[in-house]
Amino acid sequence: MTLTHTLGFPRIGAHRELKQAVEAYWKGDIGAEALASAGRDLRAVQWAREAEAGLRWVTVGDFAWYDSVLDLSVLLGAVPERFGPVGDRVDLDTMFRMARGRAPSGMPAAACEMTKWFDTNYHYLAPELHQGQAFRLASESLFDQVREAQALGHDPKVVLVGPLTWLWLGRVKGVAFDRLELLSRLLPVYHAILERLAALGVAWVQLDEPILGLDLPEAWRQAFVPTYNALAVPGLNRLVATYFGRLEENREIAAALPVEGLHVDGVRGGDDVEALARCLPAPRVLSVGVVDGRNVWRTDLDAALARLRSLHDALGDRLWLAPSCSLLHVPVDLGSETRLDPEVRGWLAFAVQKLEELRVLARALDEGPEAVAPALAEARGAVAGRRASPRLHRPEVRARLRAVDDAMTRRHAPYRERAARQKARLGLPLFPTTTIGSFPQTQEIRMARRDFKAGRLDAASYRRRMEEEINAVVRFQEEIGLDVLVHGEAERNDMVEYFGEQLEGFAFTDYGWVQSYGSRCVKPPLLFGDVARPGPMTVAWATHAQGLTQKPMKGMLTGPITILNWSFVRDDQPRADTCLQLALALRDEVRDLEAAGLPILQIDEAAFREGLPLRKAERADYLAWTVRAFRVASSGVRDDTQIHTHMCYSTFNDIIDAVAALDADVVTIETARSDMALLDAFQEKAYPNEIGPGVYDIHSPNVPEVAAMVALLRKAAVHIPAERLWVNPDCGLKTRGWPEVRASLVNMVEAARVLRAAP
Ligand code: GLN
Ligand code: ZN
Repeated sequence: MTLTHTLGFPRIGAHRELKQAVEAYWKGDIGAEALASAGRDLRAVQWAREAEAGLRWVTVGDFAWYDSVLDLSVLLGAVPERFGPVGDRVDLDTMFRMARGRAPSGMPAAACEMTKWFDTNYHYLAPELHQGQAFRLASESLFDQVREAQALGHDPKVVLVGPLTWLWLGRVKGVAFDRLELLSRLLPVYHAILERLAALGVAWVQLDEPILGLDLPEAWRQAFVPTYNALAVPGLNRLVATYFGRLEENREIAAALPVEGLHVDGVRGGDDVEALARCLPAPRVLSVGVVDGRNVWRTDLDAALARLRSLHDALGDRLWLAPSCSLLHVPVDLGSETRLDPEVRGWLAFAVQKLEELRVLARALDEGPEAVAPALAEARGAVAGRRASPRLHRPEVRARLRAVDDAMTRRHAPYRERAARQKARLGLPLFPTTTIGSFPQTQEIRMARRDFKAGRLDAASYRRRMEEEINAVVRFQEEIGLDVLVHGEAERNDMVEYFGEQLEGFAFTDYGWVQSYGSRCVKPPLLFGDVARPGPMTVAWATHAQGLTQKPMKGMLTGPITILNWSFVRDDQPRADTCLQLALALRDEVRDLEAAGLPILQIDEAAFREGLPLRKAERADYLAWTVRAFRVASSGVRDDTQIHTHMCYSTFNDIIDAVAALDADVVTIETARSDMALLDAFQEKAYPNEIGPGVYDIHSPNVPEVAAMVALLRKAAVHIPAERLWVNPDCGLKTRGWPEVRASLVNMVEAARVLRAAP
């Protein structure tokens, strides 16, 4: 029998029940008991789904209140000292304080750093490591969950991030040291965990080591075999799971691991699967990730079967089937999408449907394709239907794509000349002040948008409401003396969805939520077809705003790379082509805004860095096509029109040349928390254009003092000449409240004045 399993399942629930429970607990609306019971309910539903789909085991260990890497840190006793003394077992609120700085009980403290899980939009909490750190088994939660699954009649497989990946993800605190030194202290605790699991009757533990898909230093590569030798526990089988990329030079290490099974990504792993099938000695198991855990399209079951058949012949029962990675990265259940266009719906598979695909594949292998003929035929129809759908292919878009030439990727004049013309047109002072685009999204704004969408508010009234909001935001900016104004983005629910909704080629779900971090979920649009812009998307709002003031108004757009990286994207053509289609649509919008009189346009690329390939060898290619797309979107304007871009993250070392190659006149970045340290990168590489290093940390409710911002700007001026510095917050203000925004921006404008008087 071909066995199926899943590396993990979305924990948020089909209707984001986890979010509701956790947020209610934080607010004090429910207590720990009610929270615990909500968690049990969610797990019971999830395990029942896995059992119904015929998986050999239910997966335990993929549930977490906030983040599973954080839960593992807690299990290993890796709780930083600032969270206070912890008892024999770390309690729930200590875990929440590590995640978000505060919890219903306990003293607030600075939260642990949160960062993206490999190349996904899921964020984990980075373990904090210090020299000589001691580890101990400090939580019962995982073992309780094993017993809970068993009590429900399930046979659990337990998943944990493996010791090397956990250490790799750790951040060194205090004295610098090599964190690999901690491995020998860590392994006894992992061993103790595995022993406890074996004692509970768990037969298989899945240890995730996705770092095997990265360019690893030699010492780390050499650590794998000894680590897994040290983690042998009688009666317990270990499946080491890799995913998100090709193993390449780490393939031999994977093959040599002294474990009972290996999981390999069959979607992104190239021919890793085939190569390992040839060399993995019996009785080791090869779990093949045949169903894409990173995207939402139905699997081409015929193609998958053709590939699996020879593997099945070679491996027999040693072949297992699974999604490529945890299903954490896709929505829960397509069954919830009753309003989705039926044609598009037919092309999709969410987590629940992906488990069903595994069942069909396994049966086809074991009993022959006849046994599942109707399911195979349906899948065949869906795949062929998507490929052939006229909605995917627009000849005029294709023709335009072919016609993109180098001239379309270049501004007329180089930056220096443009800067002079823009200066003459805009007449801005030294240290010009601006914001990143959005202003607080008040309850009234959200309600107006919701009412309009639901048909309770007619278009004219909605428009009036939004214009009133724009009027107020513009008046406020004039009053406090900002130099470059924005309209405030009140009409936008989300910076990607807003544009997707107005472009052809996109579809939207009602419940297609994916966890981003903690209780935060995102609903990525489905980018299924050729992208076209039926008409202007932002011009009416922007012109209304410009009409209210003599000051320069900045038009606000989301860039092609960010729209691409924050959507579920069609897989029938290269991402570079899809990105260029987006760029062409945005190029038209940029030109329309220019023609409407907007002297400055900002093209946000918040997700530029996120798409960077995990392997260094693949980065140049990504950077080449993304830079080209940005330039196509932004280069169709006159020299005296100023292009801004915004990137809200704080690591630029490895992409600074690409950022410079975008050739935006101004880039605004996140620096308030990093104390301007990242400007080193800009200085070192002699970044040639203007920069607005964020001086106001918008992720905190604190109001920044004038002196603090002046100090930050003086620091910035050490790296970047004053003529090329802008003064702005770190990011948009949509999540903040008006009182703090008002006070903070008044201070920010004052800081710029102080600097102009005494640079
Ligand atoms: N213009 C957007 C805003 O201000 C940018 C958001 C972002 O970078 N995440 O909201
Ligand atoms: Zn931002």
